[in-house]
Amino acid sequence: MNNKVFPLTKAQLEAVVDRYPTPFYLYDEAAIRRNARAILKAFSIFPAFKEHFAVKALPNPFILKILADEGFGADCASYPELLLADMAGIGGELMMFTSNETPVREYQKALELGAVINLDDSTHIDFLEKNARIPELISCRYNPGPLKGGNAIIGKPEEAKYGFTREQLIQGFVLLRDKGAKRFALHTMVASNELNPEYHIETARILFELAVEILAKTGIPLEFVNLGGGVGIPYQPDQQPIDYDYLATGIKKAYDEIILPAGLDPLGIHTEWGRIITGPYGWLVTRAIHTKRIYREYIGLDACMADLMRPGLYGAYHHITIAGKEAAPPTETYDVVGSLCENNDKFAVQRNLPKIQAGETDGDFVIIHDAGAHGRAMGFNYNGKLRCGELLLSPDGSFTMIRRPETVDDYFATLDLSRLRRE
Ligand SMILES: *Cc1c(COP(=O)(O)O)cnc(C)c1O
Repeated sequence: MNNKVFPLTKAQLEAVVDRYPTPFYLYDEAAIRRNARAILKAFSIFPAFKEHFAVKALPNPFILKILADEGFGADCASYPELLLADMAGIGGELMMFTSNETPVREYQKALELGAVINLDDSTHIDFLEKNARIPELISCRYNPGPLKGGNAIIGKPEEAKYGFTREQLIQGFVLLRDKGAKRFALHTMVASNELNPEYHIETARILFELAVEILAKTGIPLEFVNLGGGVGIPYQPDQQPIDYDYLATGIKKAYDEIILPAGLDPLGIHTEWGRIITGPYGWLVTRAIHTKRIYREYIGLDACMADLMRPGLYGAYHHITIAGKEAAPPTETYDVVGSLCENNDKFAVQRNLPKIQAGETDGDFVIIHDAGAHGRAMGFNYNGKLRCGELLLSPDGSFTMIRRPETVDDYFATLDLSRLRRE
């Protein structure tokens, strides 16, 4: 079991909503910091550990700054993500640039900021040299293909578009050295939302063995391996969170067996986790504004799939609680839905919940849990829906709006209406 708690009582939430109307995302800074420290403590058994937070999970510079303050770097995949990390003061080798199908200007920006470029394909070696330059430190992404089974969200590595094959990797490192690179790293990412620690330990083992093979075949000692992202969180209340000590110890055992005898110690262990860093510490706070009873019973929220698309997109489970009714018996069965003209705009389907009161100003607060990663970030504007804002709960109990809600003006900002009037 894991406790699906929300940091505010109903009365506290009512006071917040007086200033910041629902819907909004709420992030708990103290909890994010505690989690960051627990990770660093567990992984301090390695000579060099570095977490580069996957910016795409929660692309807000205020959050990135908190993480930077705890010693984390950032993993970026696009030009704006590079700028976001830069805004938070994350630069140089704390910044990884793990992109694919990358345009020239993104490589140029990553180089300008001193980020560690993680190449997705062997053809990008020439591409980078021709259009920018080969940096001193370079990383390559490995796709283990049939060596590794995938999981539901990310699919089988063999069918995934990412990375170099094993042979390409060996040749790639040699080519990079010929072209002037001096420091080398290896990366892979083969899972998404994977809660089984053995899966991640096995991934580390595959990378360690490959690091030894690279050394044997090319004479190149890698500086670090990057295990990618993909560590899962317990979205369901009966799931167990990953035990950081167990994960770190399991990876360390593989390190001691494979890396030490090969003379590769100290080898840096890097990660680019997103979901486990902020996922459980963010909530989408909404209000029930309508009830509807036809063949099923519906609760209509003031948020929709444009704010949080995971349930609609892949049927992902997000736990729901009702503020002030946390202990009430789940006597009703609802589909909890948003206002998009798409029938998959459902935060929950046939969910057992306490009786919910609906109303524009007096409806119950419906709290959607584990929305701190891949939540608002995946939002969109289909149907003219405006995405909600983001609030940060600071350790001193104060609230800061770290992103305001979108307005109609934001939605129209890309239109040049003066042309319309002229015609
Ligand atoms: C999405 C992604 C991550 C983060 O994944 P999580 O599941 O949030 O940990 C890290 N690295 C790469 C390359 C990614 O695409």
